[in-house]
Amino acid sequence: MSHEDVPVLIVGGSLVGLSTAVFLGHHGVPSLVLERHRGTAIHPRAALVNQRTMETYRAVGLEEQIEEAAAREFVQNGAIVSVDSLGGNELDWYFRFINEGVEELSPSRRVFITQIGLEPVLLAAAERVGARIEYASEAASVEQDADGVNVVVRSRDGGEERTVRARYLVAADGAHSPIRERLGIRQLGHGSFSDSITIYFKADVSRLMGDRNLSVVYVFGPRLQGFFRFSIDLQAGFLVVNSTSDEGGARSVRIGEDMSTPTCVGYVREALGDPELPVEIENVQRWSASAEYAERLRDGRVFLAGDSAHVMPPTGGFGGNNGVQDGYDLAWKLAYVLDGRADESLLDTYDAERQPVGAFTTEQAYTRYVLRLDPSLGKDDLMPIVPEAPVELGYRHRSDAVLVGADDDETWEDPATPSGRPGFRAPHVPVAVDGVERSTLDLFGRDFVLLAGPEGEAWCAAARTAADSFGVPVHTHRIGADVADADGGLEAYGTGTAGAVLVRPDGFVAWRASASHPDPEDELTRALGAALGRGAAVAAG
Ligand SMILES: Cc1cc2nc3c(=O)[nH]c(=O)nc-3n(C[C@H](O)[C@H](O)[C@H](O)COP(=O)(O)OP(=O)(O)OC[C@H]3O[C@@H](n4cnc5c(N)ncnc54)[C@H](O)[C@@H]3O)c2cc1C
Repeated sequence: MSHEDVPVLIVGGSLVGLSTAVFLGHHGVPSLVLERHRGTAIHPRAALVNQRTMETYRAVGLEEQIEEAAAREFVQNGAIVSVDSLGGNELDWYFRFINEGVEELSPSRRVFITQIGLEPVLLAAAERVGARIEYASEAASVEQDADGVNVVVRSRDGGEERTVRARYLVAADGAHSPIRERLGIRQLGHGSFSDSITIYFKADVSRLMGDRNLSVVYVFGPRLQGFFRFSIDLQAGFLVVNSTSDEGGARSVRIGEDMSTPTCVGYVREALGDPELPVEIENVQRWSASAEYAERLRDGRVFLAGDSAHVMPPTGGFGGNNGVQDGYDLAWKLAYVLDGRADESLLDTYDAERQPVGAFTTEQAYTRYVLRLDPSLGKDDLMPIVPEAPVELGYRHRSDAVLVGADDDETWEDPATPSGRPGFRAPHVPVAVDGVERSTLDLFGRDFVLLAGPEGEAWCAAARTAADSFGVPVHTHRIGADVADADGGLEAYGTGTAGAVLVRPDGFVAWRASASHPDPEDELTRALGAALGRGAAVAAG
C-alpha cells in the first residue's frame, strides 16, 4: 500500500468541500479532496447563495466569476412567492426581489446559481490555489492518533488501496456523514419529518410564468405542498414535493413511496395548474427533509463541516450557505495553526463558534418549514422567526478567541444596525482607501486588521508591537487618515474618536475598545493573544 502526506484532507468534494479547499488555498494551505462521485454536481440542489457566502467568495477573488456563471443560469434578483398553482392564484410574496431591502448591508448581492453552475467555478479555483481533487475516490477508513489522521483511500475503479496521512481532516461528507457516525457524534434537533422527492422535468412553462421573474415558487395546492424552480429558458425545472393530501384531507409526508412516472407527471401538472401540459420526467430523487445538527464539530484532528455538521430543510435556502461559512471559519484557523502562528487550541473555537450558529440556522429553517409547508408538525416549540438578513449576516461567534464584554449575551443582531461588537461580522461601510472607493470588507480576508478611530494612533503603534511579538502581520488603518467615510458610516464600528477594533482574517470582530487605554500595548497583546489561542502564553509572560 502506498503512502502520502498532506496538511489537510477533505472528505467530500461537493459545495462545502470544494469551498473549503478554496479557502485553505487562499491561506496558502494545499489540500487533497476525495470525492466519491465522478465529477461536480449533476443535480441543481442549492441555488440561493446569500450575501455572507458571496462575501467569502469575494474575499478570495471569485465574486465576479460566480455572478457571471449565475447570469447564465437565471435572470437574477427574482421573487419568492407562494401560489396554489403556477397558473393559478398567487398567495403570498415573501420577496419581490431577492435583494429587496438588503442592498445596503453588504457589497455583495444574493445570487441564484445552482450547484451545477457553481461547483466547476470552485473546482477550478481550488486547483489554482494548490488543492488536488480526486474524483471517484473514497475514504474507506479514517483513524487518528496524536499527530495526524490516516485515511485509507479506495478508487471506485479498483486498483490498490493507499493510505494518506493528513495533519487534519475536514469531513464535508454530507448529511449521512459516515465519519460523523464512526466518531459517534450525536445528532440533535428534529430528525426527519418528510420523505420528500425532487422531480426534474422538461415542460414549456413560459405561458404559465408570463412576464414574472420568480426564483422560487412555493406551491400550497389542495393536494400538494412543495416548491418549484425553473431554468432560464422556462423549458425545464424541478418540483420538490414535501407532502400531499388526499380528498378526505389526510396528509402524507412519505412521498418517496411512489416515484412512478405517471404519479410524478401528475404532481408536476397539478402544481403547474395545467392538467394537459406535456411534461417529460428526467429524473426523480428521494431525500429526507430533516432538521438536525451535530452536538460537536470537532473530534481531535477531525472537523465536521456542511451537511455533516447540520442538515436543514431548504426553506430559507440556508443549508449550503451555512456549510460554506463553516469552511471559511475553519480555513484560516487551520492555516494559522499549521504554520505555528496560532496555538492548536484555536481549533477548539471552530466548534464553539460554528456549532451554535449551525443549530440556530437549522431551527430557523425548521420554523419556516413548519409555518410554510407543514403546520401539522406543531408550532409549540418553534424558535420564533428571525428575519433572513440577521440569520445570514447577523449571527455571532462566541469563543475564547473573541473578547466579548460581560453581560453581553446577544447571539444575533440586525445587520441593518450593526454594533461592531466582538463576535459579530465587521460591518460593511462604503469607504475610500487611499482615494479608492471600496467596502470596509475589502480590508479583511487574509490577515488581522486594526481599525482605529481618528485619534487612535497609540492603538496602531500598539498593534505593530503586538504583531511583532507574535510574528503575525496586523494591518493598521486610522479612520480619517487612511480610511475615509463620507457620511460617518464608520461609527458602526463603535471605536469612537480614540478607540479601535481588531478584525480577524474571516472578517469577524475579535476585540474592541471604544476609547483610549492607559496601556494599549498590554491590552492589544492580550486581544491578539486570545484571537490566536495564545492567551495562556501571554498570561504566563
Ligand atoms: C432541493 C434542495 C434545494 C436546496 N436549496 C438550497 C439553497 O437554495 N441554498 C442553500 O444554501 N442550500 C440549499 N440546499 C441544501 C444544500 O444543497 C446542501 O446544504 C449542500 O449541498 C451541502 O453540501 P455539502 O458539501 O455539505 O454536502 P453534500 O453536497 O451532500 O456533499 C457530500 C459529498 O461527500 C461525498 N462523500 C461522502 N462520503 C464520502 C467518502 N467516504 N469518500 C469520498 N466522498 C464522500 C458525497 O459523494 C458527496 O458528494 C438545498 C437542498 C435541496 C435538497
